[in-house]
Amino acid sequence: MEVKDYIGKIELHLASLNSHQLIYAALDCRLAIERFVYNRLEFHSERHSAKLLFKNWQPHSAMRTLTLLEPDANKSFTLHMKEESERGEKEGFKLIGSHEGIDDAILNKKYHSLGSYLHLRKDMDSEKLRTLINECLDELKRLVIKKFECNLANIVKADCLACGQEIHINEKSIPNLKEIWCTDPNCNTKHFVKDFSQEKKLALILDATVFKCASCSAENLILNTKVKEGFSFKCTECHSKNEIIRKVWEYGVRETQQTALPRAKP
Ligand SMILES: [Zn+2]
Ligand SMILES: [Zn+2]
Repeated sequence: MEVKDYIGKIELHLASLNSHQLIYAALDCRLAIERFVYNRLEFHSERHSAKLLFKNWQPHSAMRTLTLLEPDANKSFTLHMKEESERGEKEGFKLIGSHEGIDDAILNKKYHSLGSYLHLRKDMDSEKLRTLINECLDELKRLVIKKFECNLANIVKADCLACGQEIHINEKSIPNLKEIWCTDPNCNTKHFVKDFSQEKKLALILDATVFKCASCSAENLILNTKVKEGFSFKCTECHSKNEIIRKVWEYGVRETQQTALPRAKP
């Protein structure tokens, strides 16, 4: 089913006087939002990687991937074109289409708010749910108006430091990126952007911590998502099994001219 099919179903549910139908409207709203982002990723998969839509699909990670490839995913704009003339005439532009961006707030807030109604609730407020559905419906209708798909972006490639997969990033996205997740959903490893050079090389740093082997002191890099008490790893040098037994927080006073506090006297 496409987004417009879901819109038809949502409107039918809303027309019913039975407030129980609102639950189905909420479900169809969520499916429509997923279908929209899914379609966008499917479009980019053809050029970048068929794995973008592999299993573990979640709206928030799909949106994260989408912003890597399509920095204007959340912006709306129209595109006009005309044949170039020698005299530089400005008339005669034809509307090619409009791009309707999806508002992140829909995905992150409304999508989850809708989900909270898909359970048995004692405090079920039908009117509040109806308002929420109507807001989503307006947004969905805006997204399905005539639009074009543009895939002319300059692409920068970086290798995932965990799995080696190529990550494709729209060059326009880079200035605003601080973190990059591997777009292979089986890996999904977080990296920090270290540097973007003139030669269009993107340097990434793994979101990881160096642990010195307790036996031979060799440095072992462990992803921060794995670091927790009880986690064990085999040293890459001496193959000893190390286990994380305790975490220690280090902290200090950040002194600035305005906020420097007098040091406590011993
Ligand atoms: Zn990876
Ligand atoms: Zn070792």
